[in-house]
Amino acid sequence: MSSKDWIEKDFYAVLGVDKAASADDVKKAYRKLARESHPDHNPGDPKAEERFKAASEAYNVLSDSGRRREYDEMRSLFGSGAFRRNARGGAQPGGMPFDVSDMFGGGGAGDRRFGGAGFQDLFSSIFSGGQAGGQAAPRGPARGRDVETEVALDFGDAVRGVTLPLTLRAPGVCDTCNGNGAKPGTQPRTCQVCHGAGVTTRNQGSFSFSEPCRNCQGVGTVVEEKCPECHGSGGVTKTRTMNVRFPAGVADGQRIRLAGRGEPGERGGPAGDLFVHVKVRPDELFGRTGDDLTLAVPVTFAEAVLGTDLRVPTLDGAVTLRVPPGTPSGRVLRARGKGVVRRDGQAGDLLVTLDVVVPARLSDEARTALESFAEQSPPAAREHLDARVRRVS
Ligand SMILES: [Zn+2]
Ligand SMILES: [Zn+2]
Repeated sequence: MSSKDWIEKDFYAVLGVDKAASADDVKKAYRKLARESHPDHNPGDPKAEERFKAASEAYNVLSDSGRRREYDEMRSLFGSGAFRRNARGGAQPGGMPFDVSDMFGGGGAGDRRFGGAGFQDLFSSIFSGGQAGGQAAPRGPARGRDVETEVALDFGDAVRGVTLPLTLRAPGVCDTCNGNGAKPGTQPRTCQVCHGAGVTTRNQGSFSFSEPCRNCQGVGTVVEEKCPECHGSGGVTKTRTMNVRFPAGVADGQRIRLAGRGEPGERGGPAGDLFVHVKVRPDELFGRTGDDLTLAVPVTFAEAVLGTDLRVPTLDGAVTLRVPPGTPSGRVLRARGKGVVRRDGQAGDLLVTLDVVVPARLSDEARTALESFAEQSPPAAREHLDARVRRVS
């Protein structure tokens, strides 16, 4: 028995006792039930056998104070009945992706029929009918799987928001055979080895172990004439295309969750979610820091010294920026509201970094003018460095 069973089974109800029942009351209730339902007193009555097994299972946990405490904690932690089985056989509390079998080291068994060894195996040796290990849990609605995909957006699309068609390839049920893998007009045959149970039982001493049937791979049926579409697997790769809206300002590395856009559920269960990992392609001009766009603008020494009006591009147009006289290299100018428009309608800014460029070559005229400027201009303020140089040399 796996720990998952603890969450799904109400041992108190099985024994017909209150949750606060004393150890003595638990024992009395169990003895009464065991006497009434014991297989020796009810030969050939499968319902009595079920009751007896359930009572023994419940008593085994509730009679041990340590295990009873564990059971109570688990039930209060996850809430009885709050679990939905997902397509992998795990369970889902409150919609968060969560696999109980991972948590309890169960190894993620695909079907609880094959879950941890325990009571079922013990009972299948007590009741040599051979069916005990093979009873499948009732298969209720199953939530569809979550799907993950990756999308690369252009820089501008990510800033402005964009709707894109997204094509997803995912395993689905073959329509030709409705997933049973058999050629249309034929039916899968019940497996002769396990008689449809999907498990076989192996005896070892006083114990017996259940394992997936090798003849049918645990399915319980065997396909003789295979479906031409899926070659007997019952599954095909299906392509789905849907339009996905990426909100303005979506950032590189962000993960967008689209509830209910994953794989459809089974037997009336809800669909899974679609998670889209967003990659944003870099722009050749603009960078981005949060809601602000960034842009580097080269200016000449003369422009920085004398001041100028700069016409610079924004993502959707152009804007004029005033460079005041005496602006140092590296100064950042701000074009308000020309950044990323957020969902609340507010926008970030365009941050323009001025980059004073030094010409590698000069015309004769420019050189003469610059030499004349050098003679007239005050020296650079590096007296503090000169003082240090004098001290160390
Ligand atoms: Zn089989
Ligand atoms: Zn098929």
